[in-house]
Amino acid sequence: MAPEVVEAFSEEATIYDKRCDLWSLGVILYIMLSGYPPFVGRCGTNCGWDWGEPCQECQNMLFESIQEGKYEFPEKDWQQISSGAKDLITRLLVRDAKNRLSAAQVLQHPWVRGVRILSVFVSLCVSLFLGTGTMVVCMKHVGITHWVRER
Ligand SMILES: [Zn+2]
Repeated sequence: MAPEVVEAFSEEATIYDKRCDLWSLGVILYIMLSGYPPFVGRCGTNCGWDWGEPCQECQNMLFESIQEGKYEFPEKDWQQISSGAKDLITRLLVRDAKNRLSAAQVLQHPWVRGVRILSVFVSLCVSLFLGTGTMVVCMKHVGITHWVRER
């Protein structure tokens, strides 16, 4: 095996690899609470990106936005959302995977611990390491979106 392959299988690499799912979890929580994503790309033309049409320009802008890792909690949508929820998102949407919360730490977070069903659900998603799309569908299915907003 080449060194980079061994590297990819090492314990440390595996741990940080799994942390992309925790980034996804941060994105999902953000969308569930606000109804829009934390990172967007918009070229400004009528390209149809918002309706799922491909647009290279929009995609590049989205990637740049993610890479910069800058996002906001606009006051008008976020003022009534608990600081615990925002705190958790802030600790998940961290560019450097090493500084991002681990799955175990997410489950210890006061906001997640606050309600048992939420912690069970989050732990289920985290432990299954579902892709982002699946998690959103799964959360919608359970009807948790509305319920989480109420918190
Ligand atoms: Zn576009």
